[in-house]
Amino acid sequence: MTSPTLGDNPFAAASTLPYGLPDFSAIHTEHFRPAFDAGLAQQRAEWEAIATDPQAPTLANTLEALEVSGRLLARALTVFYTLVSSAGTDEIREIEAEYAPKLSEHRDALYLDRRIFARLESLTDAATQAGPETDWLLRTHLKNFVRAGIRLDPEQQDRLRALNGELTSLETEFSQRVVRGMEAAAVTVTDPAQLDGLAPDAVSALAQAATDRDAEGYLITLQLPTPQAVVGQSPNRDLRRRVFEASTGRGTGTDPDSDTRRVILDLARKRAERARLLGYAHHAAYVAEDGTAATTEAVNEMLGRLAGPAVRNARAEAGDLQSALAADEPGAELAPWDWSLYADRVRQQRFAFDEGELRPYLELERVVTDGVFFAANAIYGLEFTERTDLTGYADGVRVFEVREADGTALGLFVADYYAREGKRGGAWMHNLVDQSDLLGLPPVVVNNLNVTRPAAGEPTLLTWDEVITAFHEFGHALHGLFSRVRYPSLSGTNVPRDFVEYPSQVNEMWAWHPTVLANFARHHRTSEPLDAATLDQLRASQAYGEGFATTEYLAAALLDQAWHQITPEEVPDDVAGVEAFEAAALERAGVAYPLVPPRYRSTYFNHTFGGGYDAGYYSYIWSEVLDADTVDWFAEEAAKDGDGGLNRAAGDTFRAKLLSRGHAQDPLQSYRDLRGRDAVIDPLLKRRGLGE
Ligand SMILES: [Zn+2]
Repeated sequence: MTSPTLGDNPFAAASTLPYGLPDFSAIHTEHFRPAFDAGLAQQRAEWEAIATDPQAPTLANTLEALEVSGRLLARALTVFYTLVSSAGTDEIREIEAEYAPKLSEHRDALYLDRRIFARLESLTDAATQAGPETDWLLRTHLKNFVRAGIRLDPEQQDRLRALNGELTSLETEFSQRVVRGMEAAAVTVTDPAQLDGLAPDAVSALAQAATDRDAEGYLITLQLPTPQAVVGQSPNRDLRRRVFEASTGRGTGTDPDSDTRRVILDLARKRAERARLLGYAHHAAYVAEDGTAATTEAVNEMLGRLAGPAVRNARAEAGDLQSALAADEPGAELAPWDWSLYADRVRQQRFAFDEGELRPYLELERVVTDGVFFAANAIYGLEFTERTDLTGYADGVRVFEVREADGTALGLFVADYYAREGKRGGAWMHNLVDQSDLLGLPPVVVNNLNVTRPAAGEPTLLTWDEVITAFHEFGHALHGLFSRVRYPSLSGTNVPRDFVEYPSQVNEMWAWHPTVLANFARHHRTSEPLDAATLDQLRASQAYGEGFATTEYLAAALLDQAWHQITPEEVPDDVAGVEAFEAAALERAGVAYPLVPPRYRSTYFNHTFGGGYDAGYYSYIWSEVLDADTVDWFAEEAAKDGDGGLNRAAGDTFRAKLLSRGHAQDPLQSYRDLRGRDAVIDPLLKRRGLGE
């Protein structure tokens, strides 16, 4: 439906471009506020019409009407959040802050509407008769209403609304303080001799960072997680210690403006209070129920099983590192700021290759075309054609049309690989259009990376990590592109948080596949393939360092659970209690190993206190159980055909049983349909070297 009030606002009607790609060339910042206002009003009117419909409730006039409501708002928000993440400006951020509470209220308005809930409740028999996807949709909606507080009395609902608002503000405050903390903890170096041993381009980047802030000398800016690049590179031990201490000290009160401790305590207490109000033992139980884990007991059991072997392996790795350190600095005792530098040294000695020497063989265009797309063609038969007639939302964003082996159109893949000002860090996938048979929409999906743009005329050479990230994000893209469901809210990657990383992790396997790797790893100038011995060493080095990686991850995941498996009364009263709580939690979980601190300490754990992964940081390893078990499945299928694993039949099965199903049924049922049983943990233990 078009909105008469919006005039020529490009969000007023659905895009007429191929596949419904938004017309970015026509969209400007001033279009968002009017589109949001009209979109919020329109969806409220649609909900009111459902709630007051004089007709008896039917699937069409209630359940499907809810699914198709809010199209204008959805169109505007999808584009808006794309810009927030990938091309944000001050004005975009202002609009974001202005509308965050309005959107939270909007959501509450639906989920606290008893009239709509009553109509949905009356449809259970009709939904069962209509088939499994409709039945699942109805049950999902009913669950969402209950989890949002529909069964509470009006007074409790008022308290819930207030808590939701306060939590949203606290999460924003935490994130902002974390950003300030990263800036405040940047390390200044005045004597260039202290930077000896760093690569020349790294040193000039540090000088540039100082200039950018009108400072003298060199500035070492920090990344979000505990490990910092310079700590892994500098032979200057004192500098490593300074940067490490700056990193782990963030948010602890040395700088009052970025102290996050009070916010943490408020968040933990209010989340616990909300969980109690909704009838849960604690916030973690509330979160787990919405995932495939279902209970915190299952989460604790899984994390607990890994903790002991992970720390044991980290201790064994520490032995190697201690020897390497002693060779450089006789008598020195290994400290946490020595870890990643000496881990790299040991890796280089053991596997006889230097990551830096790989880079000329990892050119972006080849990695994408001859790697990511090549694998998708071999396994799923997909064909990719760049559509230079279609424009993205910023310079350098490319649009590809995706077709099936028989030429049938599938959807669009939008690739945004380069870093730019206003783009947030990291890598991610999102949808510009959710596939839906009900709305007749094909999928339009986006991948974002943060590859540094080379100087003009130079090739874009990737690190191995960036190659893996490109394959990972494309796994999410396939989950979106292959979606074949009726309802938009169940489409593609709209699955529980502890399931969504699974298809993307699976797709990483193809980067390591000998045929795929040999196809894309060619010298950017000579096209000469990487020699077989280096390829073998690269593959052999894959499993090295898992003790460290697993321990730092588990420590963070267990901290996240500890802060959310408590009652409001168990939250420390005083900010001084934050560090003590953290220490006790790590000790209790068996991961208190000072040489390997958590990947994020509480005071800068943005995943959990900035919102999004609160009580959900366990999801990554939870998904990896399914991933590792599926990699084994592909190997079993390949063994049947003897084709080395690039197996169309296996790809089509994985697509049909899993990737295409989105959230149209219990995702673990999709898994059982694929594997013929539940997932087992052994392949993960084996991969990470954590077996008994
Ligand atoms: Zn991912």
